[in-house]
Amino acid sequence: MDLPRPSKIVCVGRNYLEHARELGNELPERPLIFLKPPSSLVGDGDAVVLPPESERVEHEGEIAVVIGRRARHVPAPEAWDFVAGIAPLNDVTARDLQKTDGQWTRAKGFDTFCPIGKMVPLDSVDRDALEVVCRVNGEVRQHGRVGEMAFSIPQLIAYISGVMTLEPGDVIATGTPAGVSPLHDGDLVEVEIPGVGVVRNPVKHA
Ligand code: ZN
Repeated sequence: MDLPRPSKIVCVGRNYLEHARELGNELPERPLIFLKPPSSLVGDGDAVVLPPESERVEHEGEIAVVIGRRARHVPAPEAWDFVAGIAPLNDVTARDLQKTDGQWTRAKGFDTFCPIGKMVPLDSVDRDALEVVCRVNGEVRQHGRVGEMAFSIPQLIAYISGVMTLEPGDVIATGTPAGVSPLHDGDLVEVEIPGVGVVRNPVKHA
Protein backbone atom coordinates (compact mmCIF):
# COMPACT_ATOMS: atom_id res chain seq x y z
CA MET A 1 0.00 0.00 0.00
CA ASP A 2 1.10 3.58 -0.58
CA LEU A 3 1.89 5.22 2.72
CA PRO A 4 0.22 8.53 3.45
CA ARG A 5 2.59 11.51 3.58
CA PRO A 6 1.14 13.80 6.24
CA SER A 7 2.90 17.02 7.20
CA LYS A 8 2.30 15.89 10.79
CA ILE A 9 0.72 13.21 12.95
CA VAL A 10 -1.05 14.78 15.92
CA CYS A 11 -1.74 12.41 18.80
CA VAL A 12 -4.00 12.72 21.81
CA GLY A 13 -2.93 11.38 25.20
CA ARG A 14 -5.26 10.14 27.95
CA ASN A 15 -8.49 10.45 26.00
CA TYR A 16 -10.11 7.36 27.56
CA LEU A 17 -10.65 7.33 31.34
CA GLU A 18 -9.68 3.70 31.97
CA HIS A 19 -6.43 4.06 30.02
CA ALA A 20 -5.51 7.25 31.88
CA ARG A 21 -6.07 5.39 35.16
CA GLU A 22 -4.10 2.30 34.19
CA LEU A 23 -1.01 4.51 33.85
CA GLY A 24 -1.76 6.33 37.10
CA ASN A 25 -3.17 9.50 35.52
CA GLU A 26 -6.50 11.32 35.56
CA LEU A 27 -8.27 12.72 32.52
CA PRO A 28 -6.75 16.04 31.42
CA GLU A 29 -8.84 19.23 31.60
CA ARG A 30 -8.17 19.85 27.93
CA PRO A 31 -6.89 17.56 25.18
CA LEU A 32 -3.26 16.55 25.78
CA ILE A 33 -1.58 16.63 22.37
CA PHE A 34 1.81 15.57 21.05
CA LEU A 35 3.36 14.80 17.68
CA LYS A 36 4.77 11.70 16.05
CA PRO A 37 7.14 12.25 13.12
CA PRO A 38 5.92 11.17 9.67
CA SER A 39 9.13 9.10 9.46
CA SER A 40 7.60 6.71 12.03
CA LEU A 41 4.89 5.57 9.56
CA VAL A 42 4.75 2.03 8.24
CA GLY A 43 1.99 0.19 6.44
CA ASP A 44 0.08 -3.04 6.81
CA GLY A 45 2.45 -6.00 6.97
CA ASP A 46 5.57 -3.98 7.73
CA ALA A 47 7.57 -4.85 10.84
CA VAL A 48 7.49 -2.86 14.06
CA VAL A 49 11.16 -2.81 15.06
CA LEU A 50 11.95 -2.85 18.78
CA PRO A 51 14.80 -0.41 19.49
CA PRO A 52 17.59 -1.64 21.79
CA GLU A 53 17.24 1.52 23.93
CA SER A 54 13.88 0.33 25.30
CA GLU A 55 12.99 -2.53 27.62
CA ARG A 56 9.24 -2.01 27.21
CA VAL A 57 7.56 -1.19 23.91
CA GLU A 58 3.74 -1.18 24.00
CA HIS A 59 0.93 -1.10 21.45
CA GLU A 60 -1.73 1.63 21.48
CA GLY A 61 -4.61 0.83 19.14
CA GLU A 62 -6.31 4.01 17.96
CA ILE A 63 -8.90 5.47 15.63
CA ALA A 64 -7.08 7.79 13.23
CA VAL A 65 -8.75 10.69 11.45
CA VAL A 66 -7.29 11.83 8.12
CA ILE A 67 -7.80 15.51 7.29
CA GLY A 68 -9.29 16.34 3.88
CA ARG A 69 -9.24 20.16 3.78
CA ARG A 70 -6.99 22.78 5.29
CA ALA A 71 -8.35 23.43 8.79
CA ARG A 72 -7.62 26.46 10.95
CA HIS A 73 -9.78 27.53 13.90
CA VAL A 74 -12.57 25.16 12.92
CA PRO A 75 -15.62 25.16 15.22
CA ALA A 76 -16.54 21.70 16.49
CA PRO A 77 -19.98 21.62 14.80
CA GLU A 78 -18.24 22.02 11.39
CA ALA A 79 -15.28 19.74 12.12
CA TRP A 80 -16.47 16.65 10.23
CA ASP A 81 -16.50 18.72 7.01
CA PHE A 82 -12.70 18.78 7.22
CA VAL A 83 -12.27 15.00 7.52
CA ALA A 84 -11.43 12.81 4.52
CA GLY A 85 -11.67 9.47 6.27
CA ILE A 86 -10.83 7.06 9.05
CA ALA A 87 -7.99 4.54 9.42
CA PRO A 88 -6.69 2.14 12.07
CA LEU A 89 -3.43 3.28 13.68
CA ASN A 90 -1.01 1.87 16.24
CA ASP A 91 0.68 4.55 18.38
CA VAL A 92 3.60 2.31 19.35
CA THR A 93 5.27 3.66 22.50
CA ALA A 94 8.50 2.93 24.37
CA ARG A 95 6.82 3.21 27.77
CA ASP A 96 10.03 3.24 29.81
CA LEU A 97 11.54 6.06 27.74
CA GLN A 98 8.27 8.03 27.92
CA LYS A 99 8.63 8.01 31.71
CA THR A 100 12.35 8.75 31.94
CA ASP A 101 12.48 11.43 29.23
CA GLY A 102 9.44 13.43 30.36
CA GLN A 103 9.17 14.70 26.79
CA TRP A 104 7.54 12.04 24.61
CA THR A 105 9.27 12.62 21.28
CA ARG A 106 11.78 9.78 21.54
CA ALA A 107 9.38 7.28 23.13
CA LYS A 108 6.80 7.86 20.39
CA GLY A 109 9.08 8.70 17.50
CA PHE A 110 11.20 5.69 16.53
CA ASP A 111 11.06 4.54 12.92
CA THR A 112 8.24 1.96 12.47
CA PHE A 113 6.37 3.22 15.58
CA CYS A 114 3.30 4.33 13.61
CA PRO A 115 1.62 1.54 11.64
CA ILE A 116 -1.39 2.90 9.75
CA GLY A 117 -3.98 1.02 7.72
CA LYS A 118 -5.83 1.99 4.58
CA MET A 119 -8.09 5.02 4.96
CA VAL A 120 -11.79 4.52 4.36
CA PRO A 121 -13.73 7.62 3.22
CA LEU A 122 -15.87 9.22 5.89
CA ASP A 123 -19.11 8.80 3.95
CA SER A 124 -18.78 5.02 4.11
CA VAL A 125 -18.37 4.75 7.89
CA ASP A 126 -20.81 5.17 10.78
CA ARG A 127 -18.92 7.92 12.61
CA ASP A 128 -20.94 7.59 15.81
CA ALA A 129 -20.41 3.83 16.09
CA LEU A 130 -16.64 3.66 15.54
CA GLU A 131 -14.78 1.14 17.68
CA VAL A 132 -11.17 0.08 17.89
CA VAL A 133 -9.85 -3.35 18.80
CA CYS A 134 -6.19 -4.26 19.33
CA ARG A 135 -5.07 -7.89 19.30
CA VAL A 136 -1.68 -9.45 19.99
CA ASN A 137 -1.20 -12.93 18.56
CA GLY A 138 -4.98 -13.10 18.07
CA GLU A 139 -5.84 -12.24 21.68
CA VAL A 140 -7.88 -9.08 22.31
CA ARG A 141 -5.95 -6.62 24.49
CA GLN A 142 -7.85 -3.37 23.90
CA HIS A 143 -11.38 -2.44 22.89
CA GLY A 144 -12.75 1.09 22.86
CA ARG A 145 -15.63 3.04 21.40
CA VAL A 146 -15.81 6.67 20.24
CA GLY A 147 -18.56 7.27 22.79
CA GLU A 148 -16.04 6.59 25.57
CA MET A 149 -13.65 9.35 24.52
CA ALA A 150 -13.16 12.22 26.96
CA PHE A 151 -12.97 14.62 23.99
CA SER A 152 -14.93 13.76 20.86
CA ILE A 153 -13.40 13.79 17.39
CA PRO A 154 -15.04 17.18 16.54
CA GLN A 155 -13.80 18.63 19.83
CA LEU A 156 -10.29 17.39 19.08
CA ILE A 157 -10.27 18.90 15.58
CA ALA A 158 -11.53 22.22 16.98
CA TYR A 159 -8.87 22.24 19.70
CA ILE A 160 -5.95 21.16 17.51
CA SER A 161 -6.87 23.43 14.60
CA GLY A 162 -6.90 26.32 17.07
CA VAL A 163 -3.23 25.60 17.71
CA MET A 164 -1.85 24.56 14.33
CA THR A 165 -3.12 24.58 10.76
CA LEU A 166 -4.11 21.08 9.71
CA GLU A 167 -3.25 20.26 6.11
CA PRO A 168 -4.91 17.71 3.82
CA GLY A 169 -3.44 14.31 4.63
CA ASP A 170 -2.55 15.18 8.21
CA VAL A 171 -3.40 12.45 10.68
CA ILE A 172 -4.95 12.77 14.14
CA ALA A 173 -4.58 9.73 16.41
CA THR A 174 -7.47 10.11 18.82
CA GLY A 175 -6.14 8.26 21.87
CA THR A 176 -6.04 4.70 23.10
CA PRO A 177 -8.40 2.73 25.35
CA ALA A 178 -7.28 0.66 28.34
CA GLY A 179 -5.28 -2.53 27.91
CA VAL A 180 -1.89 -1.39 26.62
CA SER A 181 0.67 -4.17 27.01
CA PRO A 182 4.22 -4.96 25.95
CA LEU A 183 5.24 -6.24 22.53
CA HIS A 184 7.93 -8.86 22.04
CA ASP A 185 10.03 -10.17 19.18
CA GLY A 186 7.88 -12.55 17.13
CA ASP A 187 4.50 -11.08 18.11
CA LEU A 188 1.84 -10.15 15.59
CA VAL A 189 -0.03 -6.98 16.55
CA GLU A 190 -3.29 -5.94 14.87
CA VAL A 191 -5.39 -2.81 15.20
CA GLU A 192 -8.85 -3.13 13.72
CA ILE A 193 -11.67 -0.66 13.31
CA PRO A 194 -14.62 -2.93 12.56
CA GLY A 195 -16.21 -1.89 9.28
CA VAL A 196 -13.13 0.15 8.32
CA GLY A 197 -10.15 -2.17 8.26
CA VAL A 198 -7.15 -3.59 10.04
CA VAL A 199 -3.43 -2.87 10.21
CA ARG A 200 -1.43 -5.99 11.04
CA ASN A 201 2.28 -5.92 11.83
CA PRO A 202 4.91 -8.41 12.92
CA VAL A 203 7.20 -7.30 15.75
CA LYS A 204 10.92 -7.90 15.64
CA HIS A 205 14.15 -6.90 17.32
CA ALA A 206 16.38 -4.35 15.63
ZN1 ZN B 1 -1.62 7.02 21.82
